[in-house]
Amino acid sequence: MSEKIIDHKMIINGDYVNSVSNQKIGIECPANKQLFATVPRGIKEDVDIAVKSSLIAFQSWSKVNPKERGKILLDIANDIDDQKEEIAKIIAKETGNAIRTQARPEINLVVDIFRYFGGLSSELKGETIPLGEHVLSYTRREPLGVVGAIIPWNAPVMLAACKIAPSLCTGNTLVMKAAEDAPLAVLKVAEICQKHIPPGVFNLITGTGSECGEPLAYHPDISKLSFTGSTAVGKLIMRAAAERVLPVSLELGGKSPSIVYPDVNEDWTVDGIIGAMRFTRQSQSCTAGSRLFLHKRIFDSFIEQLANKLDKLIIGDPLDDKTDMGTIINNKQYTKVCDYIKDGLDNKETEIICGGLPPKEGPLSEGYFTIPTIFRNKSNEWRLAKEEIFGPVLVAIPWEDENEVIKMANQSHYGLAAYVWTRDITRGINAAHAIESGWVQVNQGLGQVPGHSYGGYKQSGLGREFSLEGMLDSFTQRKNISINLNTPAKEL
Ligand code: NAP
Repeated sequence: MSEKIIDHKMIINGDYVNSVSNQKIGIECPANKQLFATVPRGIKEDVDIAVKSSLIAFQSWSKVNPKERGKILLDIANDIDDQKEEIAKIIAKETGNAIRTQARPEINLVVDIFRYFGGLSSELKGETIPLGEHVLSYTRREPLGVVGAIIPWNAPVMLAACKIAPSLCTGNTLVMKAAEDAPLAVLKVAEICQKHIPPGVFNLITGTGSECGEPLAYHPDISKLSFTGSTAVGKLIMRAAAERVLPVSLELGGKSPSIVYPDVNEDWTVDGIIGAMRFTRQSQSCTAGSRLFLHKRIFDSFIEQLANKLDKLIIGDPLDDKTDMGTIINNKQYTKVCDYIKDGLDNKETEIICGGLPPKEGPLSEGYFTIPTIFRNKSNEWRLAKEEIFGPVLVAIPWEDENEVIKMANQSHYGLAAYVWTRDITRGINAAHAIESGWVQVNQGLGQVPGHSYGGYKQSGLGREFSLEGMLDSFTQRKNISINLNTPAKEL
């Protein structure tokens, strides 16, 4: 029997509404390809209503005492914390990300993000500038106005929280467009937020990129654009921002290198590589270490251990606690990943180490399941080594010369993350300094932690968002006020 389809609304001005278009988007569970929910298919008119309400709300929200705004974020964090298992289940169902390895850690991080920014409200400080005894010159950190935020589906609630919490902390109001494929857990968090904030302070709209995202990016009353997604769409957002000279933050794609030196403990480092490649999120992560540069001396033994461990990952129902690895988000991404695998299989210079095309029969064929795949190739110039696949396809490249491997690591128009694995910390630090990426980790492959200024070099992005500095730079504007104290008294 097919499941009951739940009809959701979007949130504008504190109200739960349908789109003016009255159209809906169906939400499919990628693990079984069944439709289980609908959301409104927002259009330009909905964007307009949402932005207007956020513009009105800005007048009072921007004047709320920062301490009070911080307390509100802490209260939201507590409420999310109380409902985190329910939200984790929604994430697992709509994204296909496994509940134990991905969805629960994601919602725990969301609670941390709200708590982190809740504690920063007293840090919206300005400076005094020493211009002499007779001038008082100081700066204020002021909010920008209505933030237009657009997010993708791969870690939807975490990426939403990275924009909601700093926007609200700094006194901005916010209109966010959720990803078409994964709007439900973000809607749940937005619903929780509504209980704590006045109407219009945070509006969440649902719809497609072209019908809903684009009108938001071009809306004349938006004062700042904050976008997370692909580099291709990021360029469109930057163009929209350029029209009105708006500040813009872009968190974009990546093709991150992992460099393994021959002195590592192989068994331990293999686990690190699996983590860095985000195999348990089907590698649908912007920071996935998807180019593995393995020293020639350890190549064969390391790759064998890696393939053995990947083979033991349990792929299956995202809602089952036993599952390590869930599904790709949708048919479009699944087809794209399979095309890359076919390309690898057809390439004469390439050796397949493990994985391959997904099974056509059995339980895994019922959803968009793929299997961890590794190709060995000498070249860094090959399509699979250059393009962001956003699926569990790792390219392993042997290296011998340190300068050469750093050069290869930097031969990319991306520069989001990088991983260096060595027991020689001097080597590790030198490599970290030489790599052109916004975030380099040495001997760890973890995800982001609130407080670290996260963002990309090159075409991986612009601006930083995850930290105090990121919040101040990306969500406030600095006003300088200079007062001449040397004014003569009025003659009576
Ligand atoms: P995407 O296609 O760029 O979409 C991202 C968001 O933009 C979605 O909400 C999408 O709407 C919307 N959009 C699409 N076209 C638009 C347009 N013309 N105007 C305005 N909005 C538009 O990216 P994705 O496939 O969802 O996500 C994967 C990408 O995100 C990867 O490249 C990944 O590396 C990147 N990413 C980066 C970070 C980071 O922090 N650097 C984090 C996560 C993901 P729809 O939902 O309707 O498509």
